[in-house]
Amino acid sequence: VQCQLNDSPFFKAYSIDLNEKILGDGSFSICRRCVQKSTGYEYAVKIVSRKTDCTQEISLLRACQGHQNIVNLHDVIIDEGHTYLVFELLKGGELFDRIKKKNKFTESEASTIMRKLVSAVSFMHSRGVVHRDLKPENLLFVSDSEDAEIKVVDFGFARLKQEKESLHTPCFTLNYAAPEVLNGNSKGYDENCDLWSLGVILYTMLCGRAPFHTGSRNDSAAIVMARIKGGEFDFSAPSWNGVSTEAKAVVQGLLTVNPEQRMQMSHLANNSWIQGNQTFHQNSL
Ligand code: ADP
Ligand code: MG
Repeated sequence: VQCQLNDSPFFKAYSIDLNEKILGDGSFSICRRCVQKSTGYEYAVKIVSRKTDCTQEISLLRACQGHQNIVNLHDVIIDEGHTYLVFELLKGGELFDRIKKKNKFTESEASTIMRKLVSAVSFMHSRGVVHRDLKPENLLFVSDSEDAEIKVVDFGFARLKQEKESLHTPCFTLNYAAPEVLNGNSKGYDENCDLWSLGVILYTMLCGRAPFHTGSRNDSAAIVMARIKGGEFDFSAPSWNGVSTEAKAVVQGLLTVNPEQRMQMSHLANNSWIQGNQTFHQNSL
């Protein structure tokens, strides 16, 4: 994405250091640190080409403001070439990188993070919003500290629940996509696809690897897709040694292929492992 420095209302109000490493990028956007000139406060700006319509992303983000585990949208500026979404700056990196660095989380850590994510996703659903792209790259920590708050970002694929039509749109990140999304289920799929993704995230935190994409060279998209549709994953040793049956039961409940039999949000939110109402035994590696 090219930055137009001349005459853009964004660059009148904010400055960007183009020599700085970018925060992240995708096919349609780039994310950079910026500083508001009037206050000196720093933010993250997602710069999207005007060729991409982000009115939906903006309106759903706005509908989901006011939760401590959902990114705060500070400002939106549109110029001839780009849309600039100005967010609070999250400095602690992606959950993805923390999983890679730690190898895996203790049950207590995983439960704490899940409790926050469940609260955020439940809030979205109560506002009628389905995120549809929950994955460790879209979950960011506020700071590098161990107990930093985690926030959900990237409403680029989010949809309103009532919009039955657009819920058929096959847009997904393969590894985290629910089976009914891959099947293009004619009944449409609803907010339960977010619960599946939470199951994939929990599995990954607890054992340090993804459930369906094993990292082997034989993992073609077709094979991964078949595993997802069949709900084929395991709790094999050694990574799952010492993980409690309660934690496994939550994974199992969320990674249930039939979206109607999948663990529901109300059950998840009240689950005692998620609530942290039990003594966690330390994972042994
Ligand atoms: P895309 O639709 O391209 O995936 P995202 O909204 O997910 O766009 O942003 C891409 C990446 O930019 C994220 O994965 C993250 O690493 C980084 N990023 C996004 N929002 C912020 C933010 N508020 N603070 C810091 N980094 C961010
Ligand atoms: Mg993203």
